[in-house]
Amino acid sequence: MQVSSETAIKIKGLKKSFGSLEVLKGMDLEIKKGEVVCLIGPSGSGKSTFLRCMNRLEEITAGQILVNGNDITASGTNINKVRENIGMVFQHFNLFPHLTVKKNITLAPVELKLMSKEEADKKAIELLKMVGLEQKANVHPAQLSGGQKQRVAIARALAMNPDIMLFDEPTSALDPEMVGEVLNVMKELAKKGMTMVVVTHEMGFAREVSDRVLFLDGGYILEEGSPEELLSNPKNPRTIDFLNKVL
Ligand code: ADP
Ligand code: MG
Repeated sequence: MQVSSETAIKIKGLKKSFGSLEVLKGMDLEIKKGEVVCLIGPSGSGKSTFLRCMNRLEEITAGQILVNGNDITASGTNINKVRENIGMVFQHFNLFPHLTVKKNITLAPVELKLMSKEEADKKAIELLKMVGLEQKANVHPAQLSGGQKQRVAIARALAMNPDIMLFDEPTSALDPEMVGEVLNVMKELAKKGMTMVVVTHEMGFAREVSDRVLFLDGGYILEEGSPEELLSNPKNPRTIDFLNKVL
């Protein structure tokens, strides 16, 4: 499969089944470097599965996924190398409860020998500054609010210097007053040119920050467009129906 050097992710004919349940029935998608793409769709439509296929947290059933030109689904692919370049942030943070904030951030780059402990510590402090939490470096996750935990989770993903970031409903588990602080960090990242794929129900974020919105339903990308086109002027009846329920 041919890809231009401007392409971050290219997906062709992706199918994914769990046993007899076919969740993704044929996905084609090309994401450019620096692009911010939001995935929306009903619960159970396969948004998380689709995202997880992009860093091979799920084995795909058919098709091909190229990340920076490398086929991550080919046998013999070093999946750890792939994941170094793709950071992921989950709904429920998944921080290590027994480690300090700083240690949560430095663990992977040090264990994988990508940085010395000193380099990783310096990077962690920089990242904590970026997410507004440098004063929390030495506390444990239990001492943080949900919004703070999620900002640490973002800093931890960024510690590996990824060039793509995947976000799976990063604000869904947060109290409403904490949503903004997490979205602001994501906005900053987008401004810096990070390639981002974001599953979200935050239509305000999709409208303001994303370059493209995809609507997933029934195992396919049913509709896609600029946020303006897709959110203000949807064409597919299923998209219209979904947006009527969430907006
Ligand atoms: P969404 O994120 O859009 O809510 P998911 O990707 O989580 O949807 O799930 C899509 C479908 O795949 C659902 O029917 C879900 O039950 C099913 N599914 C997801 N993960 C698994 C799994 N590990 N094993 C079996 N079924 C799964
Ligand atoms: Mg999901």
